[in-house]
Amino acid sequence: MKIICVGMNYAAHVEELHFGGGEQPTLFLKPETAMTRAGWPFFVPDFSEQVEYETELVVKINHLGKAIPERYAHRYYDEVTLGLDFTCRDLQRNLQAKGWPWEISKGFDGSAYAGDWVKLADLGKGIQELKFEMDLNGETRQRGDTSLMLHTVDCIISYASRFYLLKTGDLIFTGTPSGVGRVKPGDRITARLEGRQILDCRIK
Ligand code: MG
Repeated sequence: MKIICVGMNYAAHVEELHFGGGEQPTLFLKPETAMTRAGWPFFVPDFSEQVEYETELVVKINHLGKAIPERYAHRYYDEVTLGLDFTCRDLQRNLQAKGWPWEISKGFDGSAYAGDWVKLADLGKGIQELKFEMDLNGETRQRGDTSLMLHTVDCIISYASRFYLLKTGDLIFTGTPSGVGRVKPGDRITARLEGRQILDCRIK
């Protein structure tokens, strides 16, 4: 299983980080070991002073695919959830400033968290019509609307599958809306997709 992530996929988030968005999706990978086991807390690592949450729609690939045309990409998923792309922002910025790869800031153990899976058909909406919210300690911090993605899910799948063979069970983290911020031990993150709470993550 691999985790393919998209950076800078909502204009308001690109602005808040002052990163440039591209004409193509910005992709990076997290290893399988980044995935936190369902129901486990997220442990703040000791190598960062600025660990941030990013709440994202996550899509699960349901069969093998390579060089998938965008018009067929919808056949490669039927389940979605919300996930957290935990990021060591200080490490990321330091490495970026040197022009070095920053994957350790994104791919460290436990840095990927997924909520409960939901059949897209059960939501009764298209993948680009979904709304989600994330609360930190009961206070709403992020609101997402997949209609505002700069690159659609089908575009991301098509683009990613040119470089990477997609396999059953691979996850695609589709990028965070604005409102990212720090986490600290004792925090609790909950998130709702179309009004249903499907993610509950304790920070330790
Ligand atoms: Mg992200």
